[in-house]
Amino acid sequence: MAEDFDKNDGKTEDSSKTDEGYESFCFLCRRPESECDGMIVLPNNMHVCTDCMQKSFDVLNTQFPGSTGNNSGFFGIPNIGMIDLSALQNPAGAPQKIKKKKEAEQTKPETFDFRRVPPPHRIKASLDEHVIGQEYAKKVMSVAVYNHYKRVASDASDGVEIEKSNMLMIGPTGCGKTYLVKTLAKLLDVPLAIADATSLTEAGYIGDDIESVVSKLLAAADNDVEKAEHGIIFIDEIDKIAKKKNTNQRDVSGEAVQQGMLKLLEGSEIEVPVGASSKNAMVPMAVVDTSNILFICGGAFPDLEIIIKERLNKQASIGFYADLKDKYDNDPHLLEKVTVEDLRKFGMIPEFLGRLPVIFSLDGLTEDMLVRILKEPKNAILKQYQKLLALDEVRLDFDDGALHAIASKAMEKDTGARALRAILEKYMLDIMYEIPKDDNIGQVVITKEYIEGTGGPGIVVRGQEGYLPGSN
Ligand code: ADP
Repeated sequence: MAEDFDKNDGKTEDSSKTDEGYESFCFLCRRPESECDGMIVLPNNMHVCTDCMQKSFDVLNTQFPGSTGNNSGFFGIPNIGMIDLSALQNPAGAPQKIKKKKEAEQTKPETFDFRRVPPPHRIKASLDEHVIGQEYAKKVMSVAVYNHYKRVASDASDGVEIEKSNMLMIGPTGCGKTYLVKTLAKLLDVPLAIADATSLTEAGYIGDDIESVVSKLLAAADNDVEKAEHGIIFIDEIDKIAKKKNTNQRDVSGEAVQQGMLKLLEGSEIEVPVGASSKNAMVPMAVVDTSNILFICGGAFPDLEIIIKERLNKQASIGFYADLKDKYDNDPHLLEKVTVEDLRKFGMIPEFLGRLPVIFSLDGLTEDMLVRILKEPKNAILKQYQKLLALDEVRLDFDDGALHAIASKAMEKDTGARALRAILEKYMLDIMYEIPKDDNIGQVVITKEYIEGTGGPGIVVRGQEGYLPGSN
């Protein structure tokens, strides 16, 4: 009987290959295979087209509601339902595989590759290329950063857990605090977020939430949580969140911000919005663990010197070794003598200071340092102007007098190295406007007289270049 069926009506898969000119047809609707979407072979070589099969299932589904794949099940059997046959077709033999989950998602996240971090002397050497002076600060930072990433890479299974080396840098404005941190982050190739403490307020008040600094870092890390967790957060103007003195109101932008930052500095899991600065229902959230994020706080701490001087004078005036009272009045290295006690007096709370174990100061810039800043760093301002004029095939030189004149003008402004660019821009404007007018000019020398307004720049015609400043 089965053989008859084979011969007359349908074909097995094998026979369809061998019996050329024959094709199977649907047992129910009698359409040949070529007219159907697909054919299902049932036991005993019975062929049913997918349309007929689906129709039969649909009838069952309507007669026995609740059998459509939900949990009530087919004929009351839980988790069994009728299926959509078209979903079972596999056109063109597409491989039925789904992508495996990434290994990293199943196993522990990869540990930070500590070998990528250069040793302290190399970190300092790289900083030297960009930042002038600040020798002590560069040394402290190099060691602290090296230790920080050692800590990230080490495991605490032996019970010895290395403490975080968050830093507090104290130095006048424009002396290179931000620049140091930026250079460091670039050198280590880690994401960096720079935040301003003045804009931070306690959650719920007008201003930025404290946690917004973490979402800034996440953005800097291209929303890669793992990368962000090894990054650096620099909080500038930290002295502006000192405890307000003699106030009866709630100190939402001072002491409360310090309190709020404690858990961040210490290391905790923070839920931050991805791709937005504030939390709301429409923004996806990510959890960032801050325990391996390096926090560096910086501030000018005005009047901190008075506090230090008071303390030192008090110590000096006691007892047998009583010293002169004005000994510290003009001490340029007063800030180096800062202690945690002085900072507490300034208005920083002890818990906050306790979480910033590496405290150091930066020197105010002198005129000589400003001159070096003008010409020595890899990306020095003078080099930038020289490159600009070189594109016009004009050589640019500055004589020493000019550099000192620029530096002394910058000193008057009291904004550190920041003033240099603005001053130089003013004098270079005319040069850059006039020089391209005249093709005969081959060299320009900026002189002291030009900066002081008593003369003009030295102009050398093409072919005669080579005048060296200071050689006349
Ligand atoms: P702040 O200490 O106020 O954070 P910045 O680091 O922002 O000051 O300094 C402003 C600019 O001055 C920097 O972008 C940098 O170009 C220059 N600068 C400041 N200090 C130095 C320095 N020690 N060496 C080289 N450049 C410096």
